[in-house]
Amino acid sequence: MIRDSYIKTVIEPFKIKSVEPITFTTREDRERILRTAGMNPFLIPAADVLIDLLTDSGTSAMSAKQWAGILDGDESYAGSRSFFRFEAMVKKITGLAFIIPTHQGRAAEKILFTVKGGPGKVIPNNAHFDTTRANIEFSGATAIDCMTEDGKRPEVVADFKGNMDIDKLEAVIQEHGVENIPLVMITVTNNSGGGQPVSMANIRATRAVCDKYGLPLFIDACRFAENAYFIKLREPGYADKTPLEISQEIFSYADGVTMSAKKDGIVNIGGFLAMNDADLALQCRNLLIVTEGFPTYGGLAGRDLEAIAQGLEEVLEEDYLHYRITSTAYLGNKLVDLGVPILMPPGGHAIYLDAARFCPHIPASQFPAQAINCALYLDGGVRAVEIGSLMFGTTNADGSFNGAQMELVRLAIPRRVYTQSHIDYVIEVVKHVHDRRESLKGLRLTYEAPMLRHFTARLEVLD
Ligand SMILES: *Cc1c(COP(=O)(O)O)cnc(C)c1O
Repeated sequence: MIRDSYIKTVIEPFKIKSVEPITFTTREDRERILRTAGMNPFLIPAADVLIDLLTDSGTSAMSAKQWAGILDGDESYAGSRSFFRFEAMVKKITGLAFIIPTHQGRAAEKILFTVKGGPGKVIPNNAHFDTTRANIEFSGATAIDCMTEDGKRPEVVADFKGNMDIDKLEAVIQEHGVENIPLVMITVTNNSGGGQPVSMANIRATRAVCDKYGLPLFIDACRFAENAYFIKLREPGYADKTPLEISQEIFSYADGVTMSAKKDGIVNIGGFLAMNDADLALQCRNLLIVTEGFPTYGGLAGRDLEAIAQGLEEVLEEDYLHYRITSTAYLGNKLVDLGVPILMPPGGHAIYLDAARFCPHIPASQFPAQAINCALYLDGGVRAVEIGSLMFGTTNADGSFNGAQMELVRLAIPRRVYTQSHIDYVIEVVKHVHDRRESLKGLRLTYEAPMLRHFTARLEVLD
């Protein structure tokens, strides 16, 4: 890494070889588009979005070397050369023995919990991601979050707000009985908790609890490289270690891993499941053959495996991680300077607007985060995602409303896609919405699906 002390600007560590135009619309266009979409940005065609911060999942820009790998991929059904390159890379990072490719993260979860879940089983995690929870519950098991109290409070500034609450973890094991707990999970970074990192000390402490009760530890590793870089920056003793060395230590405490390569694999599709237990690997591979494919491609093309192997190499480059973490914080810090309330401190892959403080005049039952999300689109063609009462709220039989724990608007940053001027534009749009926040109105549902309603809900503005 070459950075002279007189240089303050963190630049994108790449230049652009291929460009994709984005669409400018007028305010009248956007009013019509948003109305047609039932005030739900999920239902807006991507072609009508100027800056799309809906998710960082599968939205990354691949490098020239990854595209070269796409052409070079070996499409043999069995024993593809690309599989062996992928397997070697995952083994190098995780040190795990059995590497099973899947088409994305939830496919790895589905296989793991088909074997390890089931009625009566309980799976603790610092915070389950929604697909992890869904796969656990679909198997009949129970998913329990063990977030620390700080991790639940958006305004608290701390280094490792993604940490597992170790006392709560032990209490959960004792309450439900060690025989009912097939494994413990820990998610790095903690996506549901604001993209906040988990410390190495906390991973080690989680491992110690697992050892005490003889339980396997699985890491939900979607953003392992971002987590490793936070450890390098913030945890004593890691400043001189490389992101690869830190990642290797993280995984040294694990018996297994589930991974969505759509995040820190820097690819548009892919994932894997990995473990040390040969018997478990055999059962998982048998399921893989039924639902995904032969064990050397698992629901992916050979070219995808090649792109993942290359992406995993690039994601651990220090120049990349420095740019990634600094550019996400750039958005967050500028918003803080403008007085916009955000979940603190800035996470690795996203900035979360704290809608409860942004629009205190809109009650949770009227979806304040969705109102802000709609305003970001109306005022600037920016698409974010609501993570609040539209996603998690429920209504009781007597008509009373249970709001979500937090009302957030997530601005997720796709990897290597937008430049600093795009982000400066987003900052202007958020500022404009914040300046006129008192004019924002609550929303009312006009349609909701029985499950995961936020994807397809339709709403109208309340007067
Ligand atoms: C995205 C994600 C998953 C699921 O991965 P998919 O590839 O979307 O199926 C699981 N856990 C976490 C923490 C995630 O961010």
